Amino acid sequence: MGEILKIGLDLDDVLLATNDAMLKWHNRVYGTSYARKDIVTWELTKVWNCTFDEMLSRIHEFYASPEHDETLAFKGAIEGIETLGEGKEYHIITSRPGEMHGKTMALIQKYFPPLVESVHFTSQVTEEAGRSRKKEHVCLELGIQVFVEDNLDYARNVAGVEIPVLLFDTPWNQTEDLPSNVTRVYSWEEIVEKLI
Ligand SMILES: [Mg+2]
Repeated sequence: MGEILKIGLDLDDVLLATNDAMLKWHNRVYGTSYARKDIVTWELTKVWNCTFDEMLSRIHEFYASPEHDETLAFKGAIEGIETLGEGKEYHIITSRPGEMHGKTMALIQKYFPPLVESVHFTSQVTEEAGRSRKKEHVCLELGIQVFVEDNLDYARNVAGVEIPVLLFDTPWNQTEDLPSNVTRVYSWEEIVEKLI
């Protein structure tokens, strides 16, 4: 038997179609008409044209909304994990805050029940002082060998500790300047090809 590959997975917009759910919620509540292509940065203060505190309050509002609880699995993710199958370890490392544990685990259990080994909340998205961890540190602690991510900053940080990253292509992670151990991918089919 070969060595078990330890795969690290981001949650939002890798396993879950979170951006779609958030757009739907934001457009309903704030009367906007944003589409996926409009989200050209994950600094949502710039997209929503609001202060940092207002952004945090909206993110918490979204977490409490029905749209959040109805978030779908990302296209191809369920089939992708099924195809990759056993003989690998799957660890979810999300920047969501720890207080989202219950609602987040409900979504993970809904779509990805049996194969996930562990789930880690770094709280980086809300930057609670003293409570946030860094994805690259969690990856190192777990011995992650490859990480799938859509956020450019996190991808760079994980690549910076010599862990190869598959960067899921999105409107908010476009750049000419990717580290050599970050590979841009366009679908779950492509992720499976690279990991199998
Ligand atoms: Mg993400």
